[in-house]
Amino acid sequence: MSDLLARHRAVLPDWLALYYNEPIEIVSGKGCRVVDASGKSYLDFFAGILTNMIGYDVPEVREAVERQIATGVVHTSTVYLLRGQIELAEKIARLSGIENAKVFFTNSGTEANEAALLLATYARRSDQVLAMRQSYHGRSFGTAGVTGNRSWRNNSLSPLNVHFLHGTDRHLPQFRGMTDAEYVAACVEDLRHVLATAAGGDVAALIAEPVQGVGGFTTAPDGLFAAYKEVLDAEGILFVSDEVQTGWGRTGSAFFGIHGHGVAPDMMTFAKGLGNGFAVGGVVARGDLMDAPHATGLSTFGGNPVAMAAAGATLDYVLDHDLQANAARTGTLIIDGLREAAPRLPIVGDVRGRGLMFAVELVDPATGEPAPALAARFMEESRKAGLLVGKGGLYGNVLRMAPPLTLTTEEAAEGLGIVVAALEAVNEEVA
Ligand code: PLP
Repeated sequence: MSDLLARHRAVLPDWLALYYNEPIEIVSGKGCRVVDASGKSYLDFFAGILTNMIGYDVPEVREAVERQIATGVVHTSTVYLLRGQIELAEKIARLSGIENAKVFFTNSGTEANEAALLLATYARRSDQVLAMRQSYHGRSFGTAGVTGNRSWRNNSLSPLNVHFLHGTDRHLPQFRGMTDAEYVAACVEDLRHVLATAAGGDVAALIAEPVQGVGGFTTAPDGLFAAYKEVLDAEGILFVSDEVQTGWGRTGSAFFGIHGHGVAPDMMTFAKGLGNGFAVGGVVARGDLMDAPHATGLSTFGGNPVAMAAAGATLDYVLDHDLQANAARTGTLIIDGLREAAPRLPIVGDVRGRGLMFAVELVDPATGEPAPALAARFMEESRKAGLLVGKGGLYGNVLRMAPPLTLTTEEAAEGLGIVVAALEAVNEEVA
């Protein structure tokens, strides 16, 4: 064990998981590449953790942050007018497509979702919330409560009364063999049943990820969220889209993931990529919901000038360079390449994704069961070859990839080549 790892183990919690048998320390980065303490360079196909959305050391972001720091005002307070916050909120409100939208800034996705849940429950005077199975929304009491998987809920003592819906779990026996339309109809029937039985009384909101991130980049089939929305609208139930992983064009097909499902939500939450590494999160919501009676929120650091400078420069960069189109282009190249390789790799159970958010699910070729050990093997192989990816899914058997949206065609081809070679190496060991 390295000295640094021993020191990490001594003073940081055991549950702070580290990747790799010999965890690496990243000491510098440029574009889509990072360098570790030994001098080895890697193509980063996870963008930190979808945080370095436009790559490392982007001059436009660095200069905006440096300009703000040079004023001497790193932080004052949200009790004063903050120009950067107002300008960014104006842009996000416009991009959201939400009517009379208002924005509240936080420091993380968890806080953003807490704020959205508070607003929805205030507005609807109800503690009942619908959420999706296999979802992930954070680990505070409220957000762990709407997180739909036991290992991430941490036995949460949620203050909310939560009912879970089907969406990405169509592998369950009762759904097998169904067409998309049949599955959507079955899910809607289940939603109606939940509303008529378990949820007795008013329900505040449904919170959902357009593509489940931690859940393994799985998504509900086209049409499901729109069908849910119809039922929710009839009951006045709000739709909160958690865009922490899917916002800002990452899915290629839409600037916010839920728009790719043809749904206009009442609120969206965001974090991760917007600050390109700086801690920025927030909620964008209909003005009447943001200003609902009794609604209140305050965050000492949320919307601070340095975070706003970073986020403003990042968002401008995404728009000026049309990175949504780049995500669609480079993402398609990689997903197509992975799909082409999959049939000759029995360890690959599934290839899925949208834009620059794609995943490979690894299974035991003999049984088809999830194979987390193979994912761990893959991680070591790809690290050796100079590629960083993420791992996740319900069983830890899903390789999750979400490179910076600035990925070039050459980098896409290089990364694809390493992924396929590493899959072939692991496949050969098992076959
Ligand atoms: N929502 C989603 C979809 C996430 O993926 C995450 C984090 O992974 C969160 C919320 C929580 O965000 P944070 O870790 O910034 O609190």
